[in-house]
Order: sequence, then C-alpha cells, then structure tokens
Amino acid sequence: MKVAPKRVVSLEYSLHLGDHQVIDSSEGEPLSYLHGTAQIIPGLERQLEGMEPGESKQVTIAPADGYGERDPSNVQEVPRTAFGDRELHEGDELVAIDDEQNEVPVRIEKLVGDKVMVDFNHPLAGKTLHFEVTIRDVREASDEEIAHGHAHDGHHHH
Ligand SMILES: [Zn+2]
Repeated sequence: MKVAPKRVVSLEYSLHLGDHQVIDSSEGEPLSYLHGTAQIIPGLERQLEGMEPGESKQVTIAPADGYGERDPSNVQEVPRTAFGDRELHEGDELVAIDDEQNEVPVRIEKLVGDKVMVDFNHPLAGKTLHFEVTIRDVREASDEEIAHGHAHDGHHHH
C-alpha cells in the first residue's frame, strides 16, 4: 500500500544537516503519523507520498519546507527576573512554555545587563534538512484517527 492521505505511515528516519552527523532519529522505534494532516514537516510529507513499505529514500529539504527561515524579529528581550535564580549563559538552550502549554525550545542569545536576548526561532530554522527515511508500514487510518487528525500508534496525547 502506498503512502497517501488518510493512511497511517510508520517510518524510520535519521536527520543530519549536511555533515552526516545524526542529530535526530527514530532510534529503532518507527514513527507513525497520519499522512496529509501536516503532522510532520510539509517538505518531508510531500516527498513520502507514493512510497511503499521497504522503500528507502534520501530527502533534502530547504528551510522554507522545513522549520522556516530564521526570523531576526523572533529574538526578543526578556527581563532577567523572568528566569528567577537560574544561572544563564549565552548559547544555553532552554524549554519555554507557550500560551497553549506547548514546550518551545529557546536559546539564550545574549546577556545584556538585566536583560536577556532570547531567540525563539526553532533551532532548525534556516537549516537545510537531510533525512534518510525507510517506510516500514502503511495502512488505512481508522475513522477515529481521521476524526482526531493523528495516528493512534505509539505515543500520543489526546
Ligand atoms: Zn486521538
């Protein structure tokens, strides 16, 4: 069965940024997602369309089809007091919680007196992504999965 909308796809992947240093992977436990619902980055979803179980592919994705371009206006000034007693260093990567209670990775760009310049860009913004993917399984999604907009394999939250 081919990868297509309203099908649940299980795949293994590894990701590097052009230097073959793997920065993320499925670590032997396939990732499942509902195809056609933007659960994964758009450039990758498009490239997987039509693939079949057992097939492997190397996929290169430009920033615009990945995590977007880096936006300088996403570097914002935050008062030092917002971080409490925590020790801060330039380059530190922290996790902030946004208004919808999602975890957002942020980076301390610069410390300036009692202000902290915080980079809210995604760490992979502006990067060209190199994925190696292998499709493990493709199946029709259940009505419930289609209603929820996500796959019910493995880890997921309602
Ligand atoms: Zn669900």
